[in-house]
Amino acid sequence: MIRLDDATLTYPDGAGRITAVDHVSLTGKPGVVTGITGPSGSGKSSILALAATLIRPDSGHVWIGDVDAAKISRREATDLRRDRIGIVFQQSNLIASLTAREQVEVMGELGGHDERARRRLVRSHVEELLDSVGLAGQGGKRPAQLSGGQRQRVAIARALAHEPEVLLIDEPTSALDQERGAEIMELIHRLTHERNTSTLLVTHDLVHRKSLDELLTVVDGKITEHTTQHGASGASAAAAPSAS
Ligand code: ADP
Ligand code: MG
Repeated sequence: MIRLDDATLTYPDGAGRITAVDHVSLTGKPGVVTGITGPSGSGKSSILALAATLIRPDSGHVWIGDVDAAKISRREATDLRRDRIGIVFQQSNLIASLTAREQVEVMGELGGHDERARRRLVRSHVEELLDSVGLAGQGGKRPAQLSGGQRQRVAIARALAHEPEVLLIDEPTSALDQERGAEIMELIHRLTHERNTSTLLVTHDLVHRKSLDELLTVVDGKITEHTTQHGASGASAAAAPSAS
């Protein structure tokens, strides 16, 4: 589970500060894809950066399970990220010289509390992961030999390699045509349900609405609307306590 509780984030802006995330509360539940949408500059990526523990909020809480990332050291945040969070950026950020298989395997080399166990875990299921993202037989290819959609699939496999409980994805379809985009969204939806990850997915493109179980709309750093796949709607729902 990932939960932001009344989180506020500001950045320096000339003499003052700009509020990018303004008292946001949201919950990402296991097995659920929670979409975050809103205009450019509304604070979507900043919300993900908070959830990813890449940046600490000025105030409020960021719960990853029972750990408040707002309260831990940088070092602890690095460990938390490595153990429990998977991140997919807008661009797939693959390493040009590595094959698809190696991009995923690299996640086993990052160490952590039990380095050898982690390496074993990743190694043991690289092929299965490549399979599950639709890249069976493509493991030997480097990024330049893959299409944009295939590169995103590698990035998703890499994010899942250490079996994170939280999956954070920023605009995964922005570089893809609509059909390829729909396939990636479907894939994320399926993997979230199969692997029970708490998935937050930023998108400004609501063509793919049906792959999102819940949808939050952000305007000027605030959540203005919360809808579920079943159509329930309301600004306050986003702040409601989660059952899990
Ligand atoms: P979105 O992802 O919805 O486009 P962002 O979270 O990137 O929005 O940005 C929210 C606001 O914070 C914008 O006004 C943006 O200009 C500002 N912002 C984002 N990152 C930084 C930063 N590192 N330093 C200063 N301002 C930033
Ligand atoms: Mg953004």
